Amino acid sequence: MKRVCFAVFFVVCALNLNAANLSGSYVDMCSKYLKIINNKEYEIYVFNFSKMVDSIEDFKKRFPDKFETSNLGTESDYKYPYLATKHVEAPRYKVFIMAGQHGTESLSTLSALRWFENNLSSDFFEKERVQVVMLPMANPWGVDNVVRKNHNDIDTNRQFIDGSTMSLKAWVDKLVSKYGPYDLSLDIHGTLFKEGLFIVQNGSDIEFAQQALKSTSHEILSKSDSGNYPDYRGTNTNPQKYLMLAPGLSTSETLGTFKSYMESSGASTRAFTLEYSDKIDENIKIVALENLMQQMVFTMRNVD
Ligand SMILES: [Zn+2]
Repeated sequence: MKRVCFAVFFVVCALNLNAANLSGSYVDMCSKYLKIINNKEYEIYVFNFSKMVDSIEDFKKRFPDKFETSNLGTESDYKYPYLATKHVEAPRYKVFIMAGQHGTESLSTLSALRWFENNLSSDFFEKERVQVVMLPMANPWGVDNVVRKNHNDIDTNRQFIDGSTMSLKAWVDKLVSKYGPYDLSLDIHGTLFKEGLFIVQNGSDIEFAQQALKSTSHEILSKSDSGNYPDYRGTNTNPQKYLMLAPGLSTSETLGTFKSYMESSGASTRAFTLEYSDKIDENIKIVALENLMQQMVFTMRNVD
């Protein structure tokens, strides 16, 4: 085990020499945080608020004409920036990405930004005419304090409901009226407890999700305990919540989530939650998540 750690350590150092941007190893861009949940210790990699701001500043220098950015507002001393691609003539697809709703899942922000950066770098958005709007850190206070809920002790991903006074919902509405409606919305999350990478959907477009999963290694996908489908996954036995439909694909009826709101309000034709698992090796899980985001966009091209 020790030898493996040393090997990783040296790889990180080597990459660090050239890691002026997010494309480098992600481990060196995070701080390690020890979190105790139910008397159990968890090592969490944290990509904090100032690192997100630095990344956006870096993008501005490197891709000055390719995207615009502005703040949606300020809460609890934190700004909420969004990014939107520019110069996508007559967009073929519009994609909304949200990350960092849960403060213990800040690698969602890191992978969303890396995915954005890679596609700016390759001009993918322009070539494929994909308009992307991204809210990379939806809970900055939670991220900096490594707490799931926000500064008001609210799980924002339960408050996308009619009558909600939550600022985050108002800001999403603003980005929907300014740039939407969207063809695809992705909400990026992570889990400490559940095995494997997976997509969560709300009952629509299962075929789309399955197609997007095709190029993800079966090995790292979340599975049902029994190996049969449909069946429940791992620790979750509440039938109202998670049901595994296939490896890497679950359905959730949790109320008030971003994805259900985007679909039911007509703000997005399709909306999914993507979840990385902290039980997968750090270097593999982030790359796999970024690939899955990309596959989601590719799949749109194939099915529409
Ligand atoms: Zn989450």
